[in-house]
Amino acid sequence: MFGGVFNPPHIGHMVCAQEAFVALELDVVVFVPVSQAPHREIEEDPGAGTRLRMCGVAITGDGRFELSEIELERPGPSYTADTLRELARRRPGDELFLILGGDEAATLATAWREPEEVLRLATVAVAERDGRRREEIAEAVSSLEGGERLAFFEMPRIDVSATLVRRRAAAGLPIRYLVPDKVGDFIGAKSLYGASAAVGAG
Ligand code: ATP
Repeated sequence: MFGGVFNPPHIGHMVCAQEAFVALELDVVVFVPVSQAPHREIEEDPGAGTRLRMCGVAITGDGRFELSEIELERPGPSYTADTLRELARRRPGDELFLILGGDEAATLATAWREPEEVLRLATVAVAERDGRRREEIAEAVSSLEGGERLAFFEMPRIDVSATLVRRRAAAGLPIRYLVPDKVGDFIGAKSLYGASAAVGAG
């Protein structure tokens, strides 16, 4: 499971999913866009349906990736523990991994609902990001039951965030190469984030 706001999906997400797939020998990476984020308002949210569509566009043609609407089917804020429980129910016998950037993983013990249930249901697979070192993250979750159930995988550091992409789109700067081509086309065509049609194109 690779959850996120995906507002919009960008190359940091795509490479993270790809490296997790390879390093952890996964059968599939399922992108799960959140409906409502529990702790924060989603900035410049074009709506969960639109973020879901952008994820669909981003993964099209890549058989390693799938898309799930599971969090859009539940009303209210999306909690990962609920989603993992539902995934476990729908995919009995599957071994579940939860893919997280290092910044997210460091907050597992303090900011997440039912973190021990998350660790019971899935191996938490952490990408090295933002220079946070493994020991620091492992230490942050060590107090939790199942806290040893962490896996780390490396990815080339890609300093792109959805915030950066939105800002560039709003400023009329190109977002080509920062997002999958078809996502750039989609953002331009729908004028998301104040973008003109040209931002995604060459
Ligand atoms: P925003 O800038 O709006 O906060 P974001 O780019 O961090 O968004 P999210 O949708 O919040 O994107 O991230 C989903 C998941 O992808 C999180 O686990 C996050 O840590 C991870 N992620 C996001 N960007 C990168 C990146 N550049 N490299 C590695 N992992 C990333």
